[in-house]
Amino acid sequence: MKLVSYDRGHVGVVTDRGVVDITDLSGIAADFWPPVGMVRLIAEFEANRARIAEAVASRQAKPLSSVRLDAPVRWPNKVIAFPANYSAHIDEMKGVGTGVISKFKASGQGFFLKANSSLSGVADGIVLPPIAGREIHHECELGIIVGRRGRGIGRAQAKDYIFGFTCLLDMVVRGAEERVMRKSYDTFCPTGPWIVTADEIADMERISMSLTVNGEPRQSASTRDLIVDIPEMIAMSSAVMTLEPGDVIATGTPAGVGPVKEGDVVEIVIDGVGSMKLPVTRGRVGDHSVWDTAKAGLAV
Ligand code: MN
Repeated sequence: MKLVSYDRGHVGVVTDRGVVDITDLSGIAADFWPPVGMVRLIAEFEANRARIAEAVASRQAKPLSSVRLDAPVRWPNKVIAFPANYSAHIDEMKGVGTGVISKFKASGQGFFLKANSSLSGVADGIVLPPIAGREIHHECELGIIVGRRGRGIGRAQAKDYIFGFTCLLDMVVRGAEERVMRKSYDTFCPTGPWIVTADEIADMERISMSLTVNGEPRQSASTRDLIVDIPEMIAMSSAVMTLEPGDVIATGTPAGVGPVKEGDVVEIVIDGVGSMKLPVTRGRVGDHSVWDTAKAGLAV
């Protein structure tokens, strides 16, 4: 099943006929604030499965092209993110073509958090802050959507806690300032276009993904090459914090990260999950003197 958040507050199922509105099954109205309809729908998904199926079978659909797609989960409890997390296999590097190769390798450094407010949908694009002299990079990542509350989850049980997957970009201002700040501008965590439920993914350890900028290949990888694999991400994060339904996990990026600029179009494609084409624009808000002194050193 493909689930979407759309038109600022609606949740729906994407079918061959278009989007079927199931906002009422989330238990809150479309104009309810905070926008937690998808979180509630995920939390109560099993209990509501029959009613959702009935709604899909009996209700009218709107064309997907007629709705505005928001971040699938707009108000999660948290966005967990793993740093660069792929072995840079020679095969993966073929066709990268930009000469931009990540200097970063995942290791035993754990995970970090991005601000929930950086989440955006495909309709929002990527809005760069007007910072001079800094590179802002794309990181192509598979997003995991947590399905159940849990703490201290073992590897063997980890997959039971995964609700589904989404395309995710972890955008970042390169530099040595605090990582949370560099990765938390509004629109720096595009997700979508929908959540694909885990039952539709035949093998989550063989998910291929790629990213292009203006059609030029930049990143390409498969989850088979993850250093910290998906069960271990669930185990590690839940060792520290209680995972909640709707939590988003950015699974880390492969080699090939590189800068984006105003006017670019970034496209992420994840096999079996979906794709998003994101125009890059430059906003007027976002500069601050904190960026004036470029500090030495590299950080993820
Ligand atoms: Mn990342």
